[in-house]
Amino acid sequence: MLTALAILFVVVLLGSIAYGFSIVVRRPPTSAELNTERCTLCRRRFDKARLIEREAGDTRVFYFCNECITRLASDAEALRAANEISS
Ligand SMILES: [Zn+2]
Repeated sequence: MLTALAILFVVVLLGSIAYGFSIVVRRPPTSAELNTERCTLCRRRFDKARLIEREAGDTRVFYFCNECITRLASDAEALRAANEISS
């Protein structure tokens, strides 16, 4: 019983040390990370200056990379062409 308590104590102690260490190690984002954002569609990280930004509602902001916009445009074009043929 005492051994179990001792093991529990050590586990709790190690856990709190690891927790405290993670707080100390946590660093602010670097300037490179502040100037980049992920594309909403492909999730790749780009420089903010290279992304198209669109707001939806008050808080949501979407970023789109050039490649995804090009793909959307060609999808829209294909859809338009398909609708033109069928009508
Ligand atoms: Zn993208």
